Amino acid sequence: MKIYGVTGWKNNGKTGLMERLVAELTSRGLRVSTVKHAHHAFDVDQPGRDSHRHRIAGASEVLLASRQRVALMQELRADPEPSLDELLLRLSPADLVLVEGYKREGHPKIEAHRAEAGTELIAPTDPLIRAVASDVQIDLDRPVFDLDDTVTIADFILQEVGLAPSSPLSSEGTAEVEECGPSAPPPLRNDCFALPPGVDWTPVDDALEMLRTRLSPVAGVETIPLQQALNRVLAEDAMAARPNPPQANSAVDGYGFAGAVTDGSHRLPLVDGRAAAGVPFEGAVPRGMAIRVLTGAALPDGVETVVLQEDVAVSDGYVSFRGPLKRGANARKAGEDVEAGQLVLRAGRQITPADLALMSAVGLSHIPVRKSLRVAVLSTGDELVEPGHQAGLGQIFDANRPMLLTMAQRMGFVPVDLGRVADDRETLRSVMDRAANEADVILTSGGASAGDEDHVSALLGETGALQEWRIALKPGRPVALAMWQGTPVFGLPGNPVAALVCALIFARPAMEVLAGAEWSKPQGFDLPAAFEKRKKPGRREYLRARVRDGRVEVFASEGSGRISGLSWAEGLVEIGDGACHIRPGDPVRYIPYGSFGL
Ligand code: AMP
Ligand code: MG
Repeated sequence: MKIYGVTGWKNNGKTGLMERLVAELTSRGLRVSTVKHAHHAFDVDQPGRDSHRHRIAGASEVLLASRQRVALMQELRADPEPSLDELLLRLSPADLVLVEGYKREGHPKIEAHRAEAGTELIAPTDPLIRAVASDVQIDLDRPVFDLDDTVTIADFILQEVGLAPSSPLSSEGTAEVEECGPSAPPPLRNDCFALPPGVDWTPVDDALEMLRTRLSPVAGVETIPLQQALNRVLAEDAMAARPNPPQANSAVDGYGFAGAVTDGSHRLPLVDGRAAAGVPFEGAVPRGMAIRVLTGAALPDGVETVVLQEDVAVSDGYVSFRGPLKRGANARKAGEDVEAGQLVLRAGRQITPADLALMSAVGLSHIPVRKSLRVAVLSTGDELVEPGHQAGLGQIFDANRPMLLTMAQRMGFVPVDLGRVADDRETLRSVMDRAANEADVILTSGGASAGDEDHVSALLGETGALQEWRIALKPGRPVALAMWQGTPVFGLPGNPVAALVCALIFARPAMEVLAGAEWSKPQGFDLPAAFEKRKKPGRREYLRARVRDGRVEVFASEGSGRISGLSWAEGLVEIGDGACHIRPGDPVRYIPYGSFGL
């Protein structure tokens, strides 16, 4: 969630500025929420009202609802006042949260100042006060805006939080800021796959760079419980709501005391009681005394150091052991792993089980994620039959569809099965219409070249948005890239080997960007080859490969129809664009299927 603060002394126009900014930003189509800290004597409803009576009677939450608004009142009672971070977690996703007050919190702010109110402006020292909005002109080391110039102040804030409309894609003049917020990503342009004029063969890296720069997330944002977030893409940076560990605690079972001890023997009287994980010792431990502590127990007041239980003798209420022990030995400091407010995971991260552990530990329970990308998959060709059906002469079973559907699924996307389509333009048109309606991206296989029966490229060509990307890649025929009713289409080759390679090399990173994830390069490893190969310059090659005894083996045949090799392999070997002669023992780049998310 993007957060920006408005601070200022009492009567210096803070609330007025908030009010004008909210009006300005919402009029630009942004979803804006606010946080305001109220005086403790303030209350949201009045004595005698029904909701007030529910609260007083002891309801832990009261939801007061009318046609105009819904107010959720959560009773804190004996609980401590929530921190700003905790409060922000209670808000629904918004493009921007404006926070009034909360001067000392770690988000950027603008300070409101009104000389008219009789306040002298003291140059702010806090670097998080990024600008001042004042009714007088003053020279400062940071921008000073006219307090009433809401448009300029709003522009500044949007720039600061990265919500300003980006200029390159919005050459048609005024960009609709409305669609720039994360909850409604801007649509892709129809010409996003256009190649520069005169380009014939495109090197793989150039093709990837074009995809990286032309595409942007199309998936919206929703907030979900952590437990459901595996494989989802984080939509906002995740900040720790509490430190880890939240308080100093013992790393071992043993005895705790204050300070360090020198070389030699020590004997300390034990206090009555003990500290265990989740069952803290309530009192303080006087200096010169020790207490029984167990692993994970919060260190009681007065305890800094722990001696291992294996290293002590306990008798008659005393614990004896030998030094030296440094202060803090065998203890974990509060926040030594993660501090409160610290960035733990960046927006764009695809969430792993370990990420769930981290976010749970730092007190996050609901997180904003991108809606799952819906990936439509369809196969084309008159020759295709469904597995389990009778295959006649000249017919083959559809191999690409189960492969591409499950690839999308493994990548954390929602596969949408659109079946097989015969080589017939009108049927294909109606299936494509359905695909554009139901999915965020469409993967087709077959019919993508320029032959008589290549109906995918012919149909996409009709819309004017087809681009045949002739990528200098083996195996791979031209990849047809197009927009069908605003939905990007990857027209993959029909040969299963080429279909998989093109899907892994091009469609995968592109889909990740559409899904809101960071652009990623699959992690490869340089390992000695167990094969020999000569290659001419001009094309990059991917061979089906696997590692045995630390050496990379390749599948015996490079034939693009050899599906058995795809399954034999556990990854790909990438051989660079130039000429080469690889001999056994030479290092080659091996990319396991796992690096592609398979
Ligand atoms: P195309 O790109 O349509 O010319 O197809 C190239 C080759 O891939 C032909 O031999 C097709 O029969 C084969 N092919 C196309 N689609 C599939 C599929 N879904 N499963 C298996 N083979 C396919
Ligand atoms: Mg075909």
